[in-house]
Amino acid sequence: MKIFFLFSALLMPLFTSCSQASRLEPTVSVPKKEQTQVKAEKQLIVIDPGHGGNDLGTHSHSVEEKTLALRTAILTKKYLNEKGYRVILTRGRDVFISLKKRVAIANDTHSQLFVSIHYNGHKNPEAKGVEVFFYEKGRDSRAKRSKQVAECVLSRLVARTRSVSRGVKHGNFHVIRETNMPAILVEGGFVTHPHERSLLKDNKYLDQVARAVAEGVNRFFETTQQTNITRSCNNEEKRPRRDSNARPVA
Ligand SMILES: [Zn+2]
Repeated sequence: MKIFFLFSALLMPLFTSCSQASRLEPTVSVPKKEQTQVKAEKQLIVIDPGHGGNDLGTHSHSVEEKTLALRTAILTKKYLNEKGYRVILTRGRDVFISLKKRVAIANDTHSQLFVSIHYNGHKNPEAKGVEVFFYEKGRDSRAKRSKQVAECVLSRLVARTRSVSRGVKHGNFHVIRETNMPAILVEGGFVTHPHERSLLKDNKYLDQVARAVAEGVNRFFETTQQTNITRSCNNEEKRPRRDSNARPVA
């Protein structure tokens, strides 16, 4: 199927303005209803706001991780929807959901990506910064793609929040270990760090985190779809320009 799309892309008339295979208009007459379905077939992503209900997550000075995670997840969903992705939230309100249930939502819906949103805490109040975890064991292809998403998201997080990067790391967390698809866990800042806590109270900061996650996810899918090669998100200036002459490498 992929080869067919790439082949079709090369045969597209020159006046076609969009170079992305995933956005190609059908070349044959398709009823309007089906055209809508073709355009809507972007990836399904599960966004998982950590904690909820009785599980506050990390908390300090009345700032609770569960609330920050939910606000961020709802904003992330909005930005991903605007980019055409389909999104399911594991929780859309302040309710407890077991880790097993979160994984089941992602696996049962056959989503293409799982993103868990968290905020950090540490007994040392000087600990600060953003980090993204992935599970590096198990299936090679899944681990590799998870790492790619993690790099894409961390890169955008640092750019948007201007926070210290704590890096992309292996994490043995239930939700990113047991899910079948590429999966990451985002830590968007420290509730226990005085300055970061003051930022986290402001929805503008959470909005930046949400935009960063959406941009990183979008970059991951666009990069892997368009070039079919491994390209690091750490090296943004070397990204190819998306113009109509761009051809797939393989
Ligand atoms: Zn957490």
